[in-house]
Amino acid sequence: MKKSSKPKVYFPRWESYNVAVEHIIRNGLDCDYLYAKPITRRTLELGTKNSPDFVCTPFKYILGGYIEAIEEGANTLIQVGGLCRLGYYGELHEQILRDLGYKDINFVNMANASFKNPLSFYDEFKKINPDLSLKKVTEACLVAVKMVEIIDKVEDYIRQNVGFEVEEGSFDKLHKEFLDDLRDVEDKKELNVLYKLYKKKFKKIEVNKPKNPLKVGFVGEYYTIMDGYSNHYMEKELAKKGIVIYRWMNLSNSILNPQTKEVKQSIKNYAKYDMGATAMYTIKKALDYAKDGVDGIIHVKSFGCTPEIDTMPVLQRISEDYKIPVIYFSFDSQTSDVGINTRVEAFYDMIMMRKEQKK
Ligand code: SF4
Repeated sequence: MKKSSKPKVYFPRWESYNVAVEHIIRNGLDCDYLYAKPITRRTLELGTKNSPDFVCTPFKYILGGYIEAIEEGANTLIQVGGLCRLGYYGELHEQILRDLGYKDINFVNMANASFKNPLSFYDEFKKINPDLSLKKVTEACLVAVKMVEIIDKVEDYIRQNVGFEVEEGSFDKLHKEFLDDLRDVEDKKELNVLYKLYKKKFKKIEVNKPKNPLKVGFVGEYYTIMDGYSNHYMEKELAKKGIVIYRWMNLSNSILNPQTKEVKQSIKNYAKYDMGATAMYTIKKALDYAKDGVDGIIHVKSFGCTPEIDTMPVLQRISEDYKIPVIYFSFDSQTSDVGINTRVEAFYDMIMMRKEQKK
C-alpha cells in the first residue's frame, strides 16, 4: 500500500470530543489523523517517568499519550492552551519530547492562538498544512462545534439515566454506536439527521427510575472531571448504584457558552476574586447543586491543582450553609482504585442513610 504523504496528526485524548477534533483535522486541514486511544496504565507510566515530579497529572497523561502516538507513527502533535499552568504545557512538552530524541516532530502549540482573534487559529493550523483553505477549515470547525454540543447533550442524558437501565450495558452500547456514526458525518445537515435519530434511540432505552432517586453533583478540575480514566470512572461507578449524576462541566458550557460575568456575580458571597482555571465554575455549580437539593457533591481534581485547592474551603462553607455532604478526591499517578472505591462506597452509604432519615 502506498504511504500517505499527508501529515499524521495527533491530538491528546479528550474522551468523546476526539470525534470533533478528527473532523477538523481530516475535513478542515486535509490531514491524516491518529485517533487518540483510551489512556492506559502504560500511558500514565510513560508520562510520569518523563515529567517533572510535581507537575499536575493531566500533564503526565498528555505527555504519555504523545509518546505512544509517536510510536504509532504520528509526526504532528497538537497542544492547547489554558488559563492556568496548562498555558505553559506546550513549551514544556515540546522540550521534553525533543530531549527524548524526537527531533523531527512538528509540534503545534495552539496556546499561541487566542479566541479574541479567531484568525490566529488559522495561522496555527497553517503550521500543520500550509496549503489549507480558510473556507474548508472554517466549515469544519463549525461542524465540530455543533458535534461538541450534541455530544454534550447526549452524555448529559446518559448520566441522568444510565443508573436505571433495565438491560445492563444498553446505554454504553448505544453511546459507542452513536460516536462511531458521528465519525462519518460530513456536514451540518447529516449531523442534524443523526442527532434526531439518536435522540429517539436513547429515549427508547427502557429505564426504571424511581420518583425521587439519589442525586449527586460533580464539580472540579477541567481535565480530571471530564476524563474517565483520570477520575477512575467515578461517575459511572456511582451511576451504577442507581444515582442521577449531574455534571455541568463540559466543553459546551465552559468554553462555547461561558458566562463568566454572571458566575462571578452569583458567587460573590462566597468568593470575591477569580482564583483561576475552573475555580469559579466549581463554586458556582456546587452552590447551584446545593440549592437544587442534590444529596451530595463530589469534588475532583488533580494533585497539586492550585485553583481547585483554593475552592475547597469555599465548598466547605457551602456544605455547612446548605447542610450538604461534600467529598474531595485528589488524583495523581499513584492513586489506587481500592482507596477510591472505599471512599466512594462510604459516601454512597452516607447519602443513602441521610435520604432514608428524611423520609
Ligand atoms: S486546572 Fe489544575 S490540574 Fe488542570 S492544568 Fe490547571 S493547574 Fe493543572
